[in-house]
Amino acid sequence: MDVCNLGQEIEVPKNFTIKGVLELLMANTEEIKGKKLISLGIGDPTAHSCFRTSSAAQEAVVDALRSNKFNGYAPTAGLPQTRMAIAEYLSRDLPYDLLPEDVYVTSGCTQAIEIALSILSRPGANILLPRPGFPVYGLCSAFRNLEARYFDLLPDNQWEVDLTTVGHLADHNTVAMVIINPGNPCGNVYSYQHLKEIAETAKRLGIVVISDEVYGHLAFGNNPFVPMGVFGSIAPVITLGSLSKRWLVPGWRLGWLVTTDPDGTLKSPKFVERLKKYCDICGGSATFIQAAVPAILEEKQDVFFRKTINILKQTSDTCYRKMKEINCITCPHKPEWSMAYMVKLNISMLKDISDDIDFCFKLAKEESVIILPGLAVGLKNWLRIIFAVEPSCLEEALERVKSFCQRHSR
Ligand SMILES: *Cc1c(COP(=O)(O)O)cnc(C)c1O
Repeated sequence: MDVCNLGQEIEVPKNFTIKGVLELLMANTEEIKGKKLISLGIGDPTAHSCFRTSSAAQEAVVDALRSNKFNGYAPTAGLPQTRMAIAEYLSRDLPYDLLPEDVYVTSGCTQAIEIALSILSRPGANILLPRPGFPVYGLCSAFRNLEARYFDLLPDNQWEVDLTTVGHLADHNTVAMVIINPGNPCGNVYSYQHLKEIAETAKRLGIVVISDEVYGHLAFGNNPFVPMGVFGSIAPVITLGSLSKRWLVPGWRLGWLVTTDPDGTLKSPKFVERLKKYCDICGGSATFIQAAVPAILEEKQDVFFRKTINILKQTSDTCYRKMKEINCITCPHKPEWSMAYMVKLNISMLKDISDDIDFCFKLAKEESVIILPGLAVGLKNWLRIIFAVEPSCLEEALERVKSFCQRHSR
């Protein structure tokens, strides 16, 4: 290939990204007098002063930085003490103990996704992804020439995985299925029983389960969180997570990929070698942040966690209540987890709006409110609402959505 022709010859995957769609929406917003822009689009609560990380976490980072001991490279799989701390943290909820060698420290959960998909990819392989889901999985698969096949999550069944479809989609080239639990974008959490069925399905199909648990422990409903690793001896599980959401520090870029697989399929020397080599390409996450992890994960932060959860409980309740007042929107499932949930648009009740994308663009333009169209996460004519927003902003935004809907109703 002639380098000069690079611009014409390379292909950009056509997948949506959340950031890409939100940028388009933002560009479409006009300055409206007296209406400041409110975004219910991006899952980064740090823009709101009620969502601040704990001072203990901040101090741990400052101490690590000031010590001058962590200005160099760390091993690309992570500092030993960081791997150990993450292994201990996750083992609290598992029936077996993880080893430090099971843990690979990554630059946020996003890089853990990239590593998981890259090491599993091989010519002709395919992967099963949830719809609705998290678009990075589809995009990463496209870059890795891993064919993405989508199974549905069932809105009337608490967004459980449609396991029958999973069975039909899989073939001998299927390498893994992905679940996101607690759910983004659905705001649900899977029961012990359902996770067990997922593990049994994966075992029958001979595939790995990749479990994205980046929202682990961000619960304000009644259902308990069960990590997929509990079923690691039924089918091999790769668990992904990060500090980003529970500690409200997405900018610190500290995540993990963990082989929660007590029986050792993922501990084969070949697989470990492949994983380690891939980490060498990635180069790891910032050493001083890694060095702070043992203190961050050890610290009893009940007060901090409770504060976040109380606000999320309040804002999710507000969201659910306000959305129910709007005729053209229905919500099959009350959010109990994470920072987002899905509501359905009844397009036939709107007179001059053609679909979810049209809805979101007109809403941005007329009301300075940003909401992600469901199509961006795989569900046409749905909306994904982020409720990790300062309560008064949220009320204001939802009031604007309501008057927008009234104006456009038949
Ligand atoms: C936010 C999010 C991620 C990315 O997490 P980072 O640690 O910020 O990279 C991955 N998966 C899901 C489901 C998320 O919501």
